[in-house]
Amino acid sequence: MHKALFLDRDGILNVDKGYVYKWEDIIWVEEVFEMIKLAMDRNYLVIVLTNQSGVHYKKYTVNDVESLHKKMSEFLAAKKLKVTDWIYCAEVESESRKPRPGMLLEAQKKYDIDLELSFMVGDKVTDIFETDSKFKRPATFLVRGQYDLSKANLKDNVKIFESHHDIVMELQKVL
Ligand SMILES: [Mg+2]
Repeated sequence: MHKALFLDRDGILNVDKGYVYKWEDIIWVEEVFEMIKLAMDRNYLVIVLTNQSGVHYKKYTVNDVESLHKKMSEFLAAKKLKVTDWIYCAEVESESRKPRPGMLLEAQKKYDIDLELSFMVGDKVTDIFETDSKFKRPATFLVRGQYDLSKANLKDNVKIFESHHDIVMELQKVL
């Protein structure tokens, strides 16, 4: 079985300006390079799990999402950084839309991942996956940014950090 570092995209890899879909609008969050490097060094797969309801709302297309992910992947590859997969949910009424666990379970199945030994990094309450009796969510680290995290349930393996840098420091300890 594999372990994984799951990353939300907007707000974690790139600055969340709302419905980002163009390469020229990507402003990288520098700390994510360290997060990915660390995960690779410690034998974790890196998998992006991102809600892209902009497709549903017709702000952009599935092709836009996929070509952006391809460019982001190429940019990372030039830094010798690897994201194994970019999984997105384009719909609003979907079992895959976070916090529903569809994308997480898809990744688990596809890559044979032990979720209990894995981690999720995000910036919204919806990055805390809903669970049921069949599986446990990965330990989840949220960074305080532009979204209200006051409703986050911190009891169950969920922690809030003040900066991306603080998450890097924590990942250094736990991965
Ligand atoms: Mg986000």
